[in-house]
Parts: sequence; structure tokens; C-alpha cells
Amino acid sequence: MQDAIEQAARTLASAPDILVLSGAGISAESGIPTFREAQTGLWAQYSPEDLATPDAFARHPARVWAWYSWRRRLIARGGPNAGHRAIAELGRRRRVFVATQNVDGLHAAAGSTDIAELHGNIWRDRCTRCGASETRDVAEPVDDGPVYCRSCGAMARPDVVWFGEMLPGDALETAQNALERAAAVIVVGTSNRVYPAAALVDAAVDSSRPVIEINPDITPVSDAVDIRITSAASEALPAMLTSLDAISANG
Ligand code: NAD
Ligand code: ZN
Repeated sequence: MQDAIEQAARTLASAPDILVLSGAGISAESGIPTFREAQTGLWAQYSPEDLATPDAFARHPARVWAWYSWRRRLIARGGPNAGHRAIAELGRRRRVFVATQNVDGLHAAAGSTDIAELHGNIWRDRCTRCGASETRDVAEPVDDGPVYCRSCGAMARPDVVWFGEMLPGDALETAQNALERAAAVIVVGTSNRVYPAAALVDAAVDSSRPVIEINPDITPVSDAVDIRITSAASEALPAMLTSLDAISANG
């Protein structure tokens, strides 16, 4: 594994511009379950399709809000981990753009600055009537009930992309532009199965850019990437950074 990490660090050493594509796996070690893991716990009786869809919200808004409040609580408690922090740190050495499928806001909390949130942000509420949106602090919610719009009083919803909804207009395009600029790509903690986000990974693999995948499990692109690191994100990313610094120090 050390070999793959050093190889990745050498790749990054000669890449002034780096695109990071991240998914739920990078936040798993902050105690935030991936959807698959969430189906083993408190919410095991519901699938994400029962909770993260416009239809579920229309029928059971209180249930959907309770689920999002539970998730907000876990995120606020967990905070960013060593993997998020290593990416933010990499951003101080290289030009780094992060395109994430995560809605947890933890890349920004760790200090990354150039981020496209492909699936929205769980900390933003958006009014279902007037569209006003408000971003709240990353803190444990005081109750589990629905949130109401401050402007018009209608029920708000979490400003995340639900199953069957379009991605926010500019997020995908911004990420595609970042891919064009990038000299290397890191794909971390995503199963590469949720489209259109996974199309960015496919495009990276199809391009001539070196692609580094960090994931303990196999994904549909694992065979096609240039460097595969099979350890957890919170170990692999800091180790890669240490190795990069050693290479830079030695010229
Ligand atoms: P996914 O759940 O489909 O896949 C997670 C991947 O992470 C898996 O391939 C798994 O092997 C890998 N993984 C698990 N632990 C890891 C670790 N410690 N280090 C590195 N990799 C690890 O997630 P996805 O590809 O992001 O797609 C699922 C959808 O679920 C997305 O649309 C996303 O918006 C949503 N989601 C987001 C969050 C969040 O914001 N934190 C949490 C759950 C689900
Ligand atoms: Zn409103």
C-alpha cells in the first residue's frame, strides 16, 4: 500500500492543478453513515427512496424532516476528519478543486475553498413556496420538526438533490471545467454508481489524466484507474500529503 501512496504523491508532485471527486465514504469516518450503512441503524425500516424523494416529502414531511434533523445532528457531532483536513491542506500546496456528492458541508468546514456541491447542502433550507433559502450554522438542531420559511411562513425543505431531481445548474459545469484544468484527479469514497456525478469520474478515467482512487472496496472504475489505494480515506490522504511534502523537500 505504501508503494501506491508514494506513486500517488509523485503524481501529485508534478500536478499544479488537482480535481478531487468525493463521496459519502470520505465522511463515513466522521460517523456519518453512507446510505447503505444507514439502512442498518435507527432508520433501517426506510430506504433512502422512502425519505430522499419529492414524493416522500409531499406525503410525510415530518418524517423526512426528522430524518434530516438526525443526519444534521450526526454531521454536527462528527465534524470533518483527517481525510477532509488533508484535502484542505493539499489546497495550500496546489490548486485544488473539490466536486463532492456529499451534502454534509464537511469539506468547507475543514477549510477547502473551491467546492462544487453536486447534490446541494444539508445546512441550507429552501422555502417550498417562495424559494428563499437560508444557510444555517453547522450545529445540532434543537428539535426534529419541520423548518418554516422566515419570509413567508411556508414549510422549507433541505436544499439537497433528491432522487429524481435535477442537479443544481452550475455545479456540474463548474466541476467539468475543473476537470479540463486538472493535471491529476483523486476519486475518494464514492461507489461511482450515482449518475450524473459518476459521469465526471468516467470522463476523468477516459481522459489522459492520471486518476488516483481511494476506496477500500472495488468500484466500476477500479480496473481503469492509474493508481488504486485500498485503505480508508482518513489514513490514505494524510499519508499521501506526508509523502508529497517529503518529495517536495528533497527536490
Ligand atoms: P456510496 O454510499 O454509494 O458509496 C460510498 C463509497 O465509499 C463505497 O464505495 C465505499 O466502499 C467507500 N468507503 C466507505 N468507507 C470509506 C472510507 N473510510 N474511505 C474511503 N472510502 C470509503 O456513496 P456515493 O458514491 O457518495 O453516492 C451515494 C449518494 O448518497 C450520493 O448521492 C450522496 O449525495 C448521498 N449521501 C451523502 C452523504 C454525505 O453527505 N455524507 C451520506 C450518505 C449519502
Ligand atoms: Zn417562503
